[in-house]
Amino acid sequence: MGLVFRRWIDLPMFLLANVIVDVEVLFAPGWPHHRHWHWHTFLVGGIVGAICGTVVYFAKPVRLLFERIMRRLRIRYRASLVGMVLGGMTGIWMHVFIDSFYHYDVEPFWPKTGNPFYRFANTGAVRITHEWIEMACIIFFVFAVILYAAAVRSFLKHKHTNAES
Ligand SMILES: [Zn+2]
Repeated sequence: MGLVFRRWIDLPMFLLANVIVDVEVLFAPGWPHHRHWHWHTFLVGGIVGAICGTVVYFAKPVRLLFERIMRRLRIRYRASLVGMVLGGMTGIWMHVFIDSFYHYDVEPFWPKTGNPFYRFANTGAVRITHEWIEMACIIFFVFAVILYAAAVRSFLKHKHTNAES
């Protein structure tokens, strides 16, 4: 998703947000550990993502590090505040969405309690098991590799054009 929408969404921020949100789980004193700070919700998660995006944008060393990593990875990249805020928000939303199918204690629509995605996955006509979700992740990873190859191709082509002009 990050690669597909990388024109609008900051890719490294999107990926980083997916990791940041699980800090909640690390600091939770016990079960249910996905409700400790309510970061695993669309509401609070979106706010946390937007704040993280803003902080990272204005933390110049981190922004420069992102640019260096993306150059190394041969992906065309330019940091923007809007891209980083969107990257932070959508990164956490994506994580919350997937976690909702996987963990019953996630409450995506908090302050509304309950987890309709988990209910759907486990009481619907077809039971969506953990194995299914893991398989879906592997399939998406294959697509990601193909998309990455396309991004590198575009980077190299662009570089070539720049060198000529
Ligand atoms: Zn999580």
